[in-house]
Amino acid sequence: MAFFDKLNDLANTATEKACSAIESGKTAISVNREEKKIQDFTCQIGEAIVNRLDNGMKPDPELSELYHCILAARQEIERLQSEQCEPPCQECCPEERPIFCCHCGQSNPPGTLFCGGCGARLEE
Ligand SMILES: [Zn+2]
Repeated sequence: MAFFDKLNDLANTATEKACSAIESGKTAISVNREEKKIQDFTCQIGEAIVNRLDNGMKPDPELSELYHCILAARQEIERLQSEQCEPPCQECCPEERPIFCCHCGQSNPPGTLFCGGCGARLEE
């Protein structure tokens, strides 16, 4: 804990040094930029750890819970994607169904207004 207290002291000293409003504005921008970097790197560390867990690294209890959330999310993604049909089939994607002309029987692509065979107006 002493280590973190020392860090806090350092941070406070740095804040006091930026005395004018403009300077503290600049400081805030710089601090934001550095904090963004920390976030990015933290994210990368997280991804690196997930990679290792995927490759069989044993998670400690704290990580285990988070890793299971990732696994659950991946399963959910798989489930959602398996519900999509690829390529779209006529049974589950009615908007992809061709329109048959009731005059000549010609099959027309969905969304067509007039029959390509006889020119009659197509009705859904
Ligand atoms: Zn027709």
